[in-house]
Amino acid sequence: MNSTTTPPLPQYETAVIGAGFGGLGMGIRLKMAGRNSFIIFERAAELGGTWRDNTYPGCACDIPSIVYSFSFDQNPNWSRKFPTQPELLAYLKACAEKFDVRSHIRFQTNVNHLAFNEKEGMWTIQTADGYTTTARYVVSAMGPLNRPHVPRLKGFELFSGLSFHSSKWPQTFDPAGRRIAVIGTGASAIQFIPQIAKTAAQVDVYQRTPPWILPRSDEPVSPTRQKWFKRFPFLQQLARSRAYWLLEIGVLAFLGNEAMNRAAEKQARNHIDASIADPQLREIVTPNYQFGCKRALISDDYYPALQQENVTLLTDPIEEITSTGVLPKNRPERPVDTIIFGTGFVASEFLLDMKIFGRDNRELFGEWQQTGPEAYYGTAVSGYPNLFFLLGPNTGLGHNSVVLMIEAQYNYILDYINALEKKGRLFLDVKSQVQEEHNRQIQQKLKSTVWQDGGCVSWYQMENGKNTTLWPGSTLHYHRKMKRWHHKSYE
Ligand code: NAP
Repeated sequence: MNSTTTPPLPQYETAVIGAGFGGLGMGIRLKMAGRNSFIIFERAAELGGTWRDNTYPGCACDIPSIVYSFSFDQNPNWSRKFPTQPELLAYLKACAEKFDVRSHIRFQTNVNHLAFNEKEGMWTIQTADGYTTTARYVVSAMGPLNRPHVPRLKGFELFSGLSFHSSKWPQTFDPAGRRIAVIGTGASAIQFIPQIAKTAAQVDVYQRTPPWILPRSDEPVSPTRQKWFKRFPFLQQLARSRAYWLLEIGVLAFLGNEAMNRAAEKQARNHIDASIADPQLREIVTPNYQFGCKRALISDDYYPALQQENVTLLTDPIEEITSTGVLPKNRPERPVDTIIFGTGFVASEFLLDMKIFGRDNRELFGEWQQTGPEAYYGTAVSGYPNLFFLLGPNTGLGHNSVVLMIEAQYNYILDYINALEKKGRLFLDVKSQVQEEHNRQIQQKLKSTVWQDGGCVSWYQMENGKNTTLWPGSTLHYHRKMKRWHHKSYE
């Protein structure tokens, strides 16, 4: 892997794909490390990823802002405990300005081809608009939740009304007076249903599986608290640590600690009892799987919205869509003029409109289609040197802020780059047997978690049941492991 002749230099040291939370932070960390030779490719016309795309009413993060933000740019001005989408997007834009990362972003550029040149130790990157460049390192920050899942429903093409997915919310859409069918009762739907129900004439909510929901207890951050955080950043750091540990301890409820799991479930059941008077409705919204198996949600306004006169919760499977409405099984047609899909994203499989060619002309996503996505600590992949994933396979979380995982990955990537430079090497490759063993251990650990054996079907798993999305441990453990690049695992 050492070169004898001097290989040509790449155009950029690092190419980052995606200008969402992960890609933006990667750019900032590269800048902070004095590594200014980088480009960020972004397929949209603006940065922000998830927080740019999801603009539905009520869109907010369900992790407190104080931990759902960069450790290296904590914001003393958060207006609420749980940040809303506009505030998060504004935060990301402000970060880009502050660290002068925007000038590195090539917007409206879709990377569709990556090929590793072993002799030169660099990646050739091609985009859909015909641009080609080279980089020593590529960081994929494409995000796992950006491809809308819209189920194929019989007769849908005949529907004469308006329809859209929650992540494609039309800016001009006004629910006032409309008759709306919402399909899905996941994280997004339970946020927008209470909002549209305020003015819509009718909201039919089609529930396939009820989610476990805990109280949200959102609150504004007082101006005094903001002032103190600004003046004494260590106070904000303390508050951040407190919020972090409160969430982190909760991981035990997911990893097999039955007492903690039961306590969480009890809290969710109490929430149902305290919010809903009608025993029949209580029963319908009570899940029959273990708490946490599907992502546990938080809301204070969803259950009250379900009890509004203009809202109907339906559990009958949808037989077909007609030109004028929805036909549930064993029921008359329910006329609507709008269908909103709150049906989530395709998360556990990977992009097929992009090709990544590694050593020996191997093709990554084709391989992942066979095995399911696998990587080394969700970050590096054997056979694809100098390529890194942010929030890659098995690095998602059910209990804490994914920004913590992303930041651990920044540390690892930067340490690798520094080490390679010191060694005077062009690349190193993860040993395939090390990666295999790592993944074997992940799947082994997952077996005793609520995500694998909790009696539900979730987007965490592939169709064959393999969980390729979640990290089966604490963020603390992941951070410790990712502090340094693991030289012994590479060849
Ligand atoms: P989701 O949580 O996966 O929910 C999708 C919903 O659509 C589920 O209720 C699902 O039912 C239903 N569904 C899917 N296909 C269906 C079909 N063919 N027929 C009927 N119902 C169908 O999706 P999401 O609400 O868009 O959220 C996705 C993820 O985004 C979340 O889990 C979360 O990680 C993230 N998110 C986060 C926040 C935040 O605050 N941080 C906010 C929004 C979203 P089943 O349960 O039966 O499959």
